[in-house]
Amino acid sequence: MSLVDQMDTVTDASAGSVDRHATTETFESTNPASGAVVGVFPVHDADAVRETVARGRVAARQWADLGYDGRGTRLSAFRGYLARRLHELADLVHRENGKPHADAILEITLAIDHLAWAGGHARKTLGPRKVNAGMLAANHAAYLEYQPLGVVGVIGPWNYPVFTPMGSIAYALAAGNAVVFKPSEYTPAVGAWLAAAWRAAVPDLPDAFQVVTGYGETGAALCRAGVGKLAFTGSAPTGRKVMATCAETLTPVLMELGGKDAMIVDDDADVTAAADAAVWGAMSNGGQTCIGIERVYATSAVYDRFVAEVTEQLRTLRPGSDDAASYGPMTMASQTDVVKRHLADAAGAGARVVRGDADPSLFPNENYVPPTVLLDVPEDNVAVREETFGPTLTITKVRDAEEALELANNSAHGLGGSVFSKSKERGMDLARRMRSGMTSVNSVLTFASVPALPFGGVGDSGFGRIHGEDGLKEFTRAKAITRQRIALPVNLMSFGRPASAADALARVMGMLHGRHR
Ligand code: NAD
Repeated sequence: MSLVDQMDTVTDASAGSVDRHATTETFESTNPASGAVVGVFPVHDADAVRETVARGRVAARQWADLGYDGRGTRLSAFRGYLARRLHELADLVHRENGKPHADAILEITLAIDHLAWAGGHARKTLGPRKVNAGMLAANHAAYLEYQPLGVVGVIGPWNYPVFTPMGSIAYALAAGNAVVFKPSEYTPAVGAWLAAAWRAAVPDLPDAFQVVTGYGETGAALCRAGVGKLAFTGSAPTGRKVMATCAETLTPVLMELGGKDAMIVDDDADVTAAADAAVWGAMSNGGQTCIGIERVYATSAVYDRFVAEVTEQLRTLRPGSDDAASYGPMTMASQTDVVKRHLADAAGAGARVVRGDADPSLFPNENYVPPTVLLDVPEDNVAVREETFGPTLTITKVRDAEEALELANNSAHGLGGSVFSKSKERGMDLARRMRSGMTSVNSVLTFASVPALPFGGVGDSGFGRIHGEDGLKEFTRAKAITRQRIALPVNLMSFGRPASAADALARVMGMLHGRHR
């Protein structure tokens, strides 16, 4: 029997003993393409969340005691399980989130790759090591290690319901923590499936990864439940609330928030490749990608050719729920209104609107948005300033790449971005100076698929990092230890030191550092 067939069991099992105390309130998750119910899930209240975290705390000690090898084999079993059930999970993602099956496969593939990397690099990144004790403590040995925090709370969004939360879950687990995950209320079935997969793959420590379901209140309860850290991925407005709630208990936070990513197309760019990347970056997943391209700044030398290429490519795109569709419906119906408002605002401000050939009258329901490009949108327009999160793209003509960079950086957000230039030096220079956590040169979104690279933003896009060594360290605390190897005749940190010791020390410092001006 597949995990999907067992979804009722999954729901009960994911709640565990929790529901003996929880309210009996439930909520439904629905298929955004058809409105069909995908699953019914408990709304976990504060007591239920606290109990789940308490169970997680017990599991966290056992999980930490397993050491890197013991955890490594179990993380491998988890990834093996996901890989064997890839199509089953992709089908569930398709039904609950709406994205095409093939895109769901790509998303899960990325998550599995990160899981493998996190498990494989935890010891090297976090394990005990000796560091140089330096001159003042030359008679000591100095050790550094990165210890787990206990239970990590993860609150996730719906747009990449596997890849995005797994960026925190995989790295937190690999670092030796237990995890309690609160998936978005729009994708609880995917969250419950992941927890059930964990229990099936790691039956000796089922509580090392648990799921609680519900709305924002359940997430707030997780913030207050005494977790060692709260990893939040979602919008900036909710991020502010999560930080305020976590401040009540001084719970540290990781903030992965929204973006308004820009692409710079320089004079020497491969225009066809840039257009292809921009269209994919903006329209795939229906534009519901935190690191999706929302703004393009193309130099006057390439602007006309670039717009013509994008317009041509737009023609072929068609939203739908079938296997051949380019992208699916908006997962969250209310987001459709945001996208429409941005398009109307831009058109009202004089923007030229270019749509693909897809005929909206043939769309199954109004959750489908046609691919749309906006030309000549004023920089102060909402369509340029705020995250649209739909299959839209603004293209703006600029004098040169320097002006492009200035406009790209003039944003409250700073998550990812892209630069197209055939010159390696130019591309790298623009990428370095782009005010964002990540930039791909001559492609889009690639940084997310490199497990060794950290992922995270600046400004309103948040702080802290998942992925890579930084992502592992994010879920640990650095532990420093010194051990005296030999006792010196003079101990400077003792009331028994001779009065002359401080003068001798000052002379040595003068000889060592005094010549530097
Ligand atoms: P959202 O902020 O509405 O919700 C995110 C999660 O927070 C959900 O699980 C929700 O139930 C929970 N929540 C809501 N109110 C809460 C509260 N008061 N306390 C605790 N938890 C609460 O975001 P969304 O609509 O689910 O996701 C879309 C957003 O996520 C976009 O802005 C997108 O850019 C961003 N995102 C960022 C990244 C990244 O890595 N930076 C990745 C994916 C998505």
